[in-house]
Amino acid sequence: MLFRWFRDRRRAAVRARPFPPAWQAILRRRFAHWHRLSEADRRELLGHIAVFLAEKRFEGCNGLTVTDEMRVLVAAQACLLLLHRDTDYFPGCPAVLLYPAAFARLVRTTGPGGVVHEGITAMAGESWNGLYAPASGGPVVLAWTDVQRGAQQPDDGRNVVLHEFAHQLDGESGGMDGTPRLPTRTAYAEWARVMTAEYRQLLADIRAANPTLIDRYGAQNPSEFFAVLTEQFFEQSANLKARHPGLYQQLADFYRQDPANWHPADRLDDDAHDDTAHRGLAERGSLVACVPLAAHGPPLRPLPPAFARARPAWA
Ligand SMILES: [Zn+2]
Repeated sequence: MLFRWFRDRRRAAVRARPFPPAWQAILRRRFAHWHRLSEADRRELLGHIAVFLAEKRFEGCNGLTVTDEMRVLVAAQACLLLLHRDTDYFPGCPAVLLYPAAFARLVRTTGPGGVVHEGITAMAGESWNGLYAPASGGPVVLAWTDVQRGAQQPDDGRNVVLHEFAHQLDGESGGMDGTPRLPTRTAYAEWARVMTAEYRQLLADIRAANPTLIDRYGAQNPSEFFAVLTEQFFEQSANLKARHPGLYQQLADFYRQDPANWHPADRLDDDAHDDTAHRGLAERGSLVACVPLAAHGPPLRPLPPAFARARPAWA
């Protein structure tokens, strides 16, 4: 309790400091969602960015030198998920690892008959959680080219930072299972009812080869479903609201935001980086992939009993 009091006081002091003008200039130039937010939301976001950058360690990988622009753009996109909410600033994630571009990962899958397949997959991001997989160190791992693209293209429904940090929020409920921490038993029940129906419908549409608004990568499992929906909630909000109103409402209640009513999105100048490394990676499944963290063992921190009893499994 005392620790929390000191922590909250320290964070309030960080939020109260003047935000560096050079960082604000980065947001105006490079963060398209900045121009969609109200003045009040921008002020709140600046405070969250300041705390995020004060608490998270950044490391460049494969020779990348981490710049202020990189730090600010990661923080801004991650903290978009925190607006209006009571937050502990992604407690399972002490560090952000940045690669220059898509990074390789050895992926093992088990096929029919228990046959194990191994292959190299190009990744745009991964989300580990130090609460459940302490040996991992709990980093979010990101490809800088994809961080940039996500920051500059606010309407394509793809944003690796929103995706990976949605996984972090998912984990705050005690497991990476597509259900983040919700305030009441009723909210858990309603979440389970709506999400189960929508997830099953997505699976059925894919089986029937029907077109879907929801990205098919979300059909991998409930955790990816929530992460993909988070991207589309912020980036394709009007369409999602029109075609999946119940689903949109669940996300609007959780995020306490209504992006469908934000200012329209404009793409920013996309000439700031060379994305030739990605041109051969059109498939979502290979470009954005996540390690399903549930596979790394049971949660170390048990759920509060009320949540554990109330939280239904879904899908
Ligand atoms: Zn994912």
